[in-house]
Amino acid sequence: ATFLIVTSFLSTVTYLGAPVDGTLTTSSTNVFSLDVLSKIHTDYDTTMEASSDFGHIVAATPNGVFRPTFPADISALIHLSLSQPTPFAVAPRGKGHSSRGQALASNGIVIDMPALGHGDHHLDHRINVLVDGMYVDAGGEQLWIDVLHETLKFGFAPRVWTDYLHITVGGTLSNAGIGGQAFRHGPQISNVHELDVVTGTGEMISCSAEVNPDLFFAVLGGLGQFGIITRARIRLEPAPKRVKWVRLAYSDVHLFTKDQELLISNQASRSGFDYVEGRVQLNRTLMENRRSSSFFSASDLARLTDLAIKTGSITIYYIEGAMYYDDNTVTSVDQKLVAVLEELSFVPGMVFIRDASYVEFLDRVGREKQKLWSAGAWDVPHPWLNLFVPKSRILDFDAGVFKGILRHANPVGLILIYPMNKDKWDERMTAVTPPGDEEVFYAVGLLRSAAGDAGAGGENGLEQLERENAAALDFCDREGIGCRQYLPHHASREGWMRHFGAAKWPRVAELKARFDPRAILSPGQGIFSPVT
Ligand code: FAD
Repeated sequence: ATFLIVTSFLSTVTYLGAPVDGTLTTSSTNVFSLDVLSKIHTDYDTTMEASSDFGHIVAATPNGVFRPTFPADISALIHLSLSQPTPFAVAPRGKGHSSRGQALASNGIVIDMPALGHGDHHLDHRINVLVDGMYVDAGGEQLWIDVLHETLKFGFAPRVWTDYLHITVGGTLSNAGIGGQAFRHGPQISNVHELDVVTGTGEMISCSAEVNPDLFFAVLGGLGQFGIITRARIRLEPAPKRVKWVRLAYSDVHLFTKDQELLISNQASRSGFDYVEGRVQLNRTLMENRRSSSFFSASDLARLTDLAIKTGSITIYYIEGAMYYDDNTVTSVDQKLVAVLEELSFVPGMVFIRDASYVEFLDRVGREKQKLWSAGAWDVPHPWLNLFVPKSRILDFDAGVFKGILRHANPVGLILIYPMNKDKWDERMTAVTPPGDEEVFYAVGLLRSAAGDAGAGGENGLEQLERENAAALDFCDREGIGCRQYLPHHASREGWMRHFGAAKWPRVAELKARFDPRAILSPGQGIFSPVT
């Protein structure tokens, strides 16, 4: 079917040349030179690989996988789709590290974005550091780990990182890109100066807060609905060399959240953690599923288990902090760290400190992934649920979910919890934060894996984890917690309308009608139905 489509397309297409300043330049090009046809792969192995994702929960087979050489190829593919009586869906796929089929395209075409960075000469040209401007231009298909290594050659680095770096720039900017630096600098989408985007009408448009701002803000956190990011200009800062990497244990959630909020407050900038995250460790996990990591040794974990037993806590909490330093601050960093620790109320003695290079610290989950991969524990179902919870309700959430619904759970995986400042998010972006005026909200990640050998219906199997997720969402609804999902998944149009809220939904629908009127982009998000 794809070949029939392509044949009819070949005789008609015109594509838009790359703009330099936000104005569109149109040029007719011999489409045969774009070689669109030869870049669509329909063999079994390739389409199967693009039929699933990190979540291993849903599957959807595309008709083909498109491997673009240049951004203009993507434009040509979209024109091809639009030239059909019934356009086919087009899903850009970065690393496919979504959990619920967001980068899949049933019976459509998946764009293998990393293909843009392949080939003899491409990589060099698709990550360009401009030291004077303190920014890097990175292809939307580039992995953050590659952006890190390239920028470090110049002594610089982006300011905000996701916990895992082997995912693409376009993939995280389509969501938000949050991590322990976001309290200070906002999410990754708050650190972008400019984008090149191929819209759902096939136009190639450069945009920024000043030039084509509607498209710029639509695409940031836009879940792939308005255009395909082919380049992002990302802000840089001088990179530190090393990191004091700290975990502090708490048995009392009040003290834990109070300290986290202190650390992300303006006054705490004086205290100087450059990164603040946190975790919840369920008691049962410590008792039954203890696993030493690159951070906690077996003896550290034994001490934490003792703490859980002695205090009778259902949950133990850790603040994870990092303080950057370099040659100039190497002599003062310990003193500064001690000063910060003195302000905090963790359980006396329950402080764990590592010294790591900046890269070692940032790529910590990459190392964990290698271990899980080797143990056959990476390619398992991941029914992840991420929520943004208003600060005023985080203790209710703790009581209802961690100490209630998950009280007896023994999850494989992680539970993250850390606060962020809302004023670092730009309301004009599509990304969603909890409604209301509260300045602080928490990111809570139930990042659990279904146990491989338990079977879908067994203890810790996919069905049980899905039931617990549904119960947590029900609890939030019932109690009016005012959560919003991050990396969202909603099964109905009503769910999406509630997600964006009365303020944002009409705008999202209007932008969709403008930039992707046939609704061909990223159908796996399940927000809009194709317009026939
Ligand atoms: P994909 O899964 O390939 O795509 C995601 C969505 O974006 C799809 O809808 C796709 O169509 C669209 N898309 C992909 N590329 C483009 C593009 N160039 N232009 C427009 N749309 C595009 N997220 C955080 O914020 N913080 C974290 O700390 C974090 N840690 C993670 C750790 C792990 C181990 C994993 C698996 C995920 C983590 N995530 C985190 C989530 C991650 O940011 C998202 O799942 C992200 O989408 C993954 O990038 P990807 O390249 O795999 O995107």
